[in-house]
Amino acid sequence: MGKIHELPVELSNQIAAGEVIERPASVVKELVENSIDAHASQVLIRVEQSGLKSIEVNDNGDGIAAEDVEVAFAPHSTSKIATDRDLFAIKTLGFRGEALASIASVSKLTVLTSTDGKSAIKADFAGNTMLSKETFARSKGTTMTVQDIFFNTPARLKYVKSLHTELNRIVDIVDRLAMGHPEISFRLIHEKKDLVWTSGNGNLQQTIAGIYGRTIASHMLSFENSDTDYEIKGYFSKPDTTRSNRSYMSMILNGRYIKNYQLSSAVVRGYGSKLMIGRFPVAVIDIKLDPNLVDINVHPTKQEVRLANESRIADLISEGIRNRLSDQNLIPSAVKNL
Ligand code: ADP
Ligand code: MG
Repeated sequence: MGKIHELPVELSNQIAAGEVIERPASVVKELVENSIDAHASQVLIRVEQSGLKSIEVNDNGDGIAAEDVEVAFAPHSTSKIATDRDLFAIKTLGFRGEALASIASVSKLTVLTSTDGKSAIKADFAGNTMLSKETFARSKGTTMTVQDIFFNTPARLKYVKSLHTELNRIVDIVDRLAMGHPEISFRLIHEKKDLVWTSGNGNLQQTIAGIYGRTIASHMLSFENSDTDYEIKGYFSKPDTTRSNRSYMSMILNGRYIKNYQLSSAVVRGYGSKLMIGRFPVAVIDIKLDPNLVDINVHPTKQEVRLANESRIADLISEGIRNRLSDQNLIPSAVKNL
């Protein structure tokens, strides 16, 4: 007999989970992205012990049909793409069909979901096996409850940092998801404490106010700079309001938060010499483009993407900021550097 054998499904799922589910914040990201893809207008996230004890994501989206509940948790199962052509024109945040299978393989998960607000299905999973499935009642939408993450993968648990760090990462990811979707109301509660709340009224500046505070948001400048391929809008702080690191610059591409050094550098470049060396602005840049012009399928967490013409987008950003700043009579009112 040969030495090569196919891995049991549970084991291969745990391996795949290593790529997407690094920490509690990854669970929050994947579940909230599913709520957004399901057209929710309200997403409520409750976490306990920085997500290590439990993470619950509750939405009022489309729900999962009773007959789809089990398959939704199977590896590579998605309702979002069907053909290879779809892969190059992704309009949803998810498409890999891996998140639920991955999360369920490293936690104890319960789903309660209804597509019509009348009948609902409640199912429990542990390590990918569906333990129970029963009919229930709830309003239209889905609640996913993830408990005891990494209970069966102790090596992974060791990489989890302090409770404080893990909670910060959860707040950070909810902040960025919220800024990508001002039309959705997000609320994050950690052990009864409200940490994030956005109104969902569609206004990006008000969403930024919900995240960075009213004072910062109300002093930000807005700009728009578009061409035939790219529609770029953004808010950015005046040069007298800066931070000591780059993490207050968010790039949102078709509603997806991405990490992109070239684009965040373009923000900084737009300030020219108005920014002190080593200081970075607060900025939210919203980029809309044809999904054909971006390849999302580069990295499992989809935060890195490949853009057809990155330097063009970078130029539009720095030019937009530069022009807006030159309109302003910039005499620093007070030093607000933190
Ligand atoms: P993907 O998002 O890549 O499709 P997931 O594993 O995250 O893969 O989810 C699998 C499928 O389960 C989704 O394609 C979707 O049909 C369904 N689903 C997951 N979460 C929700 C939700 N909150 N509301 C409605 N459907 C959901
Ligand atoms: Mg998903």
